[in-house]
Amino acid sequence: MAKPRIYTTSAIVLKYRNYSESDRFVTLLSRKMGRIEGFAKGVRRSTSKLTGHLELFYTVRITLAMGKNTDVITEVQILSAPDRINQNLNTVSCALNIIELALNVSTEGTGNELIYDLLEKTLNKLNTTHASNSAKLLAYYQLKLLSISGLSPEFKTCVECGNILDEQDHLYSAHTGGIVCPSCAPKQAGPLLNLSVNTIKVLRFLDAEDMTKIENFSVPKEILTKTIETLDTHIDYHIDRKTRSRSFFKAFQ
Ligand SMILES: [Zn+2]
Repeated sequence: MAKPRIYTTSAIVLKYRNYSESDRFVTLLSRKMGRIEGFAKGVRRSTSKLTGHLELFYTVRITLAMGKNTDVITEVQILSAPDRINQNLNTVSCALNIIELALNVSTEGTGNELIYDLLEKTLNKLNTTHASNSAKLLAYYQLKLLSISGLSPEFKTCVECGNILDEQDHLYSAHTGGIVCPSCAPKQAGPLLNLSVNTIKVLRFLDAEDMTKIENFSVPKEILTKTIETLDTHIDYHIDRKTRSRSFFKAFQ
């Protein structure tokens, strides 16, 4: 269906780049329309009605008019301004990782509703929870996003032979997309990651439970770091993009 000349939608700000002296190109994820880009003229002038309305992580109700190359943002109403995210370096680095992943997997047009709902829910939780829960929420988001994208890693049975895994340390293979049992491990072509039995339990828990249970779930820091490293490896291999914010996150662990 063709876009109307003027349209209004709810959307989350994923990215922007400044242009000229006072303008900005903004990329957003709309629940109904998927990824959209708009031109915000004069947004960086203190007198603009758009000033402070198009910040990263904000959910807005936005009106755009079709332009020749890029649509022009004419009205913005803030629906959610999760400004607490920016008060903690660890939280903001997790949130940057989260929106960058949304950018990588979302598409223009319909079919992005689940990604939008997950993103909105995770950003709201990051804004209200204690900063020490940020990395757990990042891992939760990564697992749910992989599931939505049909790219879930396999942690319950051997991804090669299908046998149920014994409760012990195992090896994860990015190439095959999950854990391989001791019999199948020697046949793997790509690199393997060692996963302790406790890391495997954490991955399964994060995959199965809801956000509130995860918020109250205590995970030793080294296991959480390994959990995110495993998910980052899986995402790099299967989503095929390395994110700048991920290296930023690692720098502050
Ligand atoms: Zn096997």
